[in-house]
Amino acid sequence: MSTSTDGFGTRAIHAGQDPEPRTGAVAVPVFQTSTYVQEAPGKHSGYEYARTGNPTRDALQTCLASLEGADAGVCFASGLSAEDAVLRLLPPRSRVVIANDVYGGTWRLLDKVHAPMGMDVVAVDMTDLDAVDAAISAPGGEGGFLWVETPSNPLLKITDLTALADIAHNANARLVADNTFATPYLQQPLSLGADLVVHSTTKYIGGHSDVVGGAVCTDEETAEQLRWLQNAVGAVPGPWDAWLTLRGVKTLHVRMDRHCENAHALATWLEGHEQVVEVMYPGLSSHPGHDLAARQMSGFGGMISIRVAGGREAAERMLQRTKHFFLAESLGGVESLIEHPGIMTHASVAGTALEVPDDLVRLSVGIEDLTDLQADLDRALSA
Ligand SMILES: *Cc1c(COP(=O)(O)O)cnc(C)c1O
Repeated sequence: MSTSTDGFGTRAIHAGQDPEPRTGAVAVPVFQTSTYVQEAPGKHSGYEYARTGNPTRDALQTCLASLEGADAGVCFASGLSAEDAVLRLLPPRSRVVIANDVYGGTWRLLDKVHAPMGMDVVAVDMTDLDAVDAAISAPGGEGGFLWVETPSNPLLKITDLTALADIAHNANARLVADNTFATPYLQQPLSLGADLVVHSTTKYIGGHSDVVGGAVCTDEETAEQLRWLQNAVGAVPGPWDAWLTLRGVKTLHVRMDRHCENAHALATWLEGHEQVVEVMYPGLSSHPGHDLAARQMSGFGGMISIRVAGGREAAERMLQRTKHFFLAESLGGVESLIEHPGIMTHASVAGTALEVPDDLVRLSVGIEDLTDLQADLDRALSA
């Protein structure tokens, strides 16, 4: 049992995860079934078909809602299918004002899927609050979304969630926050005024690079519309995926502490490295969003972006020389990953206003021993 007054770690382990009533099983079972028997036509236990509902998925949804301080959570097969469901809440021709350095897949979903169907997609620098206000307040913005990632991906910009929520609400729009990078352990957008939180649970929430998933946490009325879409469109996570994600989230608070500790130490060290031109990490006092991050987050996260001396070639060389940092897309797992956003995760924004520098390298700092990670980067940078 868990209540909303329990601490974060207690809720991560107990919310939605009461022992199974028949056997007392402590771990939520994997309900691997597509359908449920009915007592009489239309008379059932609350579960009738597994696209519509599954108890393993329900446990995960309840747990995530509790961690975000939301009425409800609704889970999807991936972060992008969660985002797609959120975008389907809007009437045709609605406006979505989006940060100009969002996850490349989010941009592709808006620009290549929803814009051609009539959505009015406007990209702005979200740290420029006047530009955001102008974009959403102009005629046609009413009823739309402001869509933000903070920290952003891959430039790790920090945006003021309270200010964005005010701007959105003054324009009769809603604020959607992608909280994948921060996780509910470090930042709670709903408590700062956001209306919906989206997650790629593939990243820190799952935390072990072994499952793809997505979630939306929001108020009950919006969640009801999302559950309708979950069933009508059908991009649901399977029970094993929900179970793995639930297993991962139980240790989110412990992992995040170590991610933050390792990343902060590495960022501080990288700032003094002669092969590094710039370090982007909100925990550094040199970061333009540092004070804001200190106010709206309880830690600075595990992601670092750096610009390497010697341009794209030097960056590509570095990426091929690390041993502990695996060269791979994705982030947020216990193992450290390194990637080149321009070529890899953000290739879909090349040639647009969202293009990223070609000497940029993104690090997802894992929870290995700090000395090994530092030696690995030093070797790769200096070789
Ligand atoms: C990975 C990611 C997504 C997309 O999630 P998938 O689970 O890969 O579909 C969305 N937003 C951010 C910030 C991400 O890192």
